[in-house]
Amino acid sequence: MSKPGNKSSPGTRQYSTAAGHGNAGSMIVSPDALPPRAKATYDKVKKFIREEIMPLEKDIDKHSLPSADMWKVPPVVEKLKAKAKAEDSGIYFYQKSLTQKVTMELDLPMLNMHLCCTDTGNMEVLVKYGTEEQKRQWLTPLLNGEMRSCFGMTEPNVASSDATNIQSSIVRDGNQYVINGRKWWTSGAMHPDCKLCIFMGKTNPDAPKHKQQSMILVPMDTPGVTIVRPLTVFGYLDQPAGHAEVLFKDVRVPASNLLLGEGEGLK
Ligand SMILES: Cc1cc2nc3c(=O)[nH]c(=O)nc-3n(C[C@H](O)[C@H](O)[C@H](O)COP(=O)(O)OP(=O)(O)OC[C@H]3O[C@@H](n4cnc5c(N)ncnc54)[C@H](O)[C@@H]3O)c2cc1C
Repeated sequence: MSKPGNKSSPGTRQYSTAAGHGNAGSMIVSPDALPPRAKATYDKVKKFIREEIMPLEKDIDKHSLPSADMWKVPPVVEKLKAKAKAEDSGIYFYQKSLTQKVTMELDLPMLNMHLCCTDTGNMEVLVKYGTEEQKRQWLTPLLNGEMRSCFGMTEPNVASSDATNIQSSIVRDGNQYVINGRKWWTSGAMHPDCKLCIFMGKTNPDAPKHKQQSMILVPMDTPGVTIVRPLTVFGYLDQPAGHAEVLFKDVRVPASNLLLGEGEGLK
């Protein structure tokens, strides 16, 4: 009888671990099966993490203890970012999924490699749906690690796992949109470099259920944006990025900040 893990056992997923297996459509899950260029990046990132980041983990950990500096970026992180960039832009964000795989494999904080969850998702949104101007203004500095961003979907008053429940409003007024709503669990909003929120709200509550929502770019320094408080996850504040409750009260942004179009928020 086949044992679990035996390649012939029924129900076991078969993943290729060899390069050039020639099986169209197969998912490559082993680094050894990567194309040479991707494998070279993978090896470079792994080396950088092992040799440059891991020895400094204790310093970074120390910074997470409660102190006057706890909401500041540990200086060592900035140094590592600069080093990663200087060494080779290829190990800084380039081939994100690859670097994410290594960082997860090694169970390391991803902030050194600029792979924190909200930023990566937001960058993907901007790459896919941003206008050239939105990309210039927000994507480039995000990719360069010059700023951070957050995503405001979840709200305290509704079951937010179903995004059609979101109640925040985005109302057109001339060449602006006026935004009102209360968000929480907004990861990254506490970060001193967080400059942008991709905000989800309703532009038309009367439209069909999945066409009511839109996403809009809100600079965090816009009047009416207030960080109410940091929230804890199992007792941790996850500083300096944190997870915040954020109030948006009569926040006005240019109409050109809308992503993709009205009613396209769940696309
Ligand atoms: C560490 C952390 C970071 C986060 N970062 C972000 C972020 O950056 N931006 C952001 O917008 N959000 C963020 N979130 C919030 C997260 O996306 C939401 O917590 C999640 O979507 C669930 O929504 P909720 O908390 O409103 O739970 P709910 O939707 O209230 O769900 C609670 C439970 O009820 C169940 N449930 C819900 N509706 C029904 C129903 N109709 N029938 C039966 N069961 C139901 C759910 O399955 C779940 O088990 C973060 C959360 C955490 C913990």
